[in-house]
Amino acid sequence: MIEELTSLSRSHLMENEPMEKHTTFKIGGPARWFLDAGCEEDVERALSIAKTHGLPAIVIGRGSNLLVADRGLDALVIEIGNGMSQIHVDGCSVTAQAGARLSVLSQEAARHGLSGLEFAAGIPGGVGGGTAMNAGAYGGQMSDVLTGARAIEDGRIVKIPAQDMELGYRQSRILKRNGVVLSASFALTPDDPARITERMQELNRRRREKQPLSFPSAGSVFKRPEGYFAGALIEGAGLKGCRIGDAMVSPLHAGFIVNVGHATAEDVRSLIEHIQNTVYQKDGVRLETEVRMLGF
Ligand SMILES: Cc1cc2nc3c(=O)[nH]c(=O)nc-3n(C[C@H](O)[C@H](O)[C@H](O)COP(=O)(O)OP(=O)(O)OC[C@H]3O[C@@H](n4cnc5c(N)ncnc54)[C@H](O)[C@@H]3O)c2cc1C
Repeated sequence: MIEELTSLSRSHLMENEPMEKHTTFKIGGPARWFLDAGCEEDVERALSIAKTHGLPAIVIGRGSNLLVADRGLDALVIEIGNGMSQIHVDGCSVTAQAGARLSVLSQEAARHGLSGLEFAAGIPGGVGGGTAMNAGAYGGQMSDVLTGARAIEDGRIVKIPAQDMELGYRQSRILKRNGVVLSASFALTPDDPARITERMQELNRRRREKQPLSFPSAGSVFKRPEGYFAGALIEGAGLKGCRIGDAMVSPLHAGFIVNVGHATAEDVRSLIEHIQNTVYQKDGVRLETEVRMLGF
């Protein structure tokens, strides 16, 4: 299997690669095998090799919505990042490979005078993760502008139009079926580049003001419960600043857990459980994690 994976000429295979290097939380034990993917064919082939050898495969993007267990992942982790990050603009249509950063995509759209992706300017994920999660902020979400994706499903490359993507709140057919986004296309609207950039800067300013961006985190830990805001419930339960080990509920934004030193995944997991139990006892609301937990 190792020989087959190392023969993927445009990708790079690593053994026992610390996942803390690949998550914005800066937490996570080693991935038994880690492939930095360089092209679509390598992703397809790597998935097939892993399947043949009975090894679980996990595809990640920029690692900005992940909590990886301290004991690591006995799996092949396929990272779709810089090696697959091309962006192609054609009129009002933009197609980006899954590894392109959402921030770069929105800047590129702005440079071409294309509006619609301003909301994504400050989301630290990639196009693949953003599409799979239907990422959103400040009233916008991927489903507003997505026209379709190229993906791998059941070992085959397929084109999925947006209406078949089953995009919901932080949900998609990709997550449900364990598919892999290779690229995604967006329909945008012409506008003045300076005005688009201004809007992106304003949203990023609001983000810097409200979010604890100087500490490692995975963004909002919990999904927004129907009729409530997770951050407000957590703050209302007196949990701002609550700490287990080096994992702390951000005093700035209670929806974030921040790594204030050398937090372990177990610190974060215990804090998540403590928050869920406390909020449930106080308000009867069950908080569901938005952060994807791997290896627990
Ligand atoms: C400071 C901060 C602020 C944030 N703000 C926001 C925000 O405003 N709005 C928001 O929605 N999110 C936000 N997030 C969370 C995160 O950035 C998004 O969920 C983002 O879309 C995740 O993309 P990623 O590439 O990092 O995915 P990862 O974290 O690597 O993966 C997330 C999930 O997507 C899957 N996945 C990744 N790539 C692919 C692919 N190519 N094909 C199939 N599945 C894939 C993974 O298996 C995993 O289940 C924030 C995070 C941080 C740290």
